[in-house]
Amino acid sequence: QAKQAGKNRYHLFDAEQDRAVRGRHEVIARVQRAIADNEFVLHYQPKVRMRDGALIGAEALIRWMHPERGLLAPAEFLPHIDTHRTGIELGEWVIQTALNQIAEWRAAGLDLTLSVNIAASHLQQADFVSSLRALLAAHPAVPPHRLELEVLETSALEDVELISEVIGACAELGVRFALDDFGTGYSSLTYLKRLPVDVLKIDQSFVRDMLHDPGDLSILEGVLGLARAFHREVIAEGVETEAHGKLLLQLGCELGQGYGIARPMPAEALERWAGQWRAPAAWTHTGRLPQE
Ligand code: C2E
Ligand code: MG
Ligand code: MG
Ligand code: MG
Repeated sequence: QAKQAGKNRYHLFDAEQDRAVRGRHEVIARVQRAIADNEFVLHYQPKVRMRDGALIGAEALIRWMHPERGLLAPAEFLPHIDTHRTGIELGEWVIQTALNQIAEWRAAGLDLTLSVNIAASHLQQADFVSSLRALLAAHPAVPPHRLELEVLETSALEDVELISEVIGACAELGVRFALDDFGTGYSSLTYLKRLPVDVLKIDQSFVRDMLHDPGDLSILEGVLGLARAFHREVIAEGVETEAHGKLLLQLGCELGQGYGIARPMPAEALERWAGQWRAPAAWTHTGRLPQE
């Protein structure tokens, strides 16, 4: 009797696992087809210097123009393919597309640093640096420092040794590096010292809550102090309102990204946006003077 129940349970589990595996295979096959059919697109979210509204760069964020389901956010497909070869292939497509976009914008007189999100599994590929080098060589019109790679702080910490080596090798190519969602990974000072990144990107959860949560405000102040001590650039994500920007400027955080500035948008929309956006007056009258 007990044996029978155990056996049934085993079969049930097995069937579920089987369905999950088959589901994953289906998603992978579907993504594969979508790459071939050009169904992926990059949207771009501006990064600005809040004090004067200068557009300093943009972050490329992937979207899937699914013929039946509409525009899909990365959370709907990336987790299924992240560690798979197809995920790496998609990552290569993203870098390639970003380099093309940088070149196109430069030719049109828009000189932006473009940030691209890279999965840790992609960075861990033995040939990551050499294929990046090849991609850069194929885009001679793009100065390498116009490309910035964002890696999640939490995943960088999984393999600090290797990731810091990769970051170092990318730095030699001239490519910049940022730790994304910074503050969520409880990284110690030691880790920060060992990860030679250019930029700390403060996670949006701290920014969102700093206005009413003293704890989040303290974390934010701590990260800003850390960034200064280690001479790292710092940018806040999740700048949703004018008040967020104003407080960040008062704290000495100059760079921002968020819905309160602009949502991610197609490339042509960003060009139009760049021509007409002005920082709120509250920002241009806040913060330190340029000569300080
Ligand atoms: P992330 O790199 O931290 O990007 C910021 C996410 O927050 C984006 O979501 C962006 O649309 C959203 N966001 C920007 N400003 C605000 C704001 O003011 N408020 C709120 N609530 N959200 C804001 P998205 O595009 O859905 O991307 C989610 C995550 O997916 C990204 O987080 C990144 O980790 C990953 N991702 C996106 N594109 C790629 C890609 O091409 N490759 C890889 N490997 N990961 C990607
Ligand atoms: Mg990012
Ligand atoms: Mg982030
Ligand atoms: Mg995030």
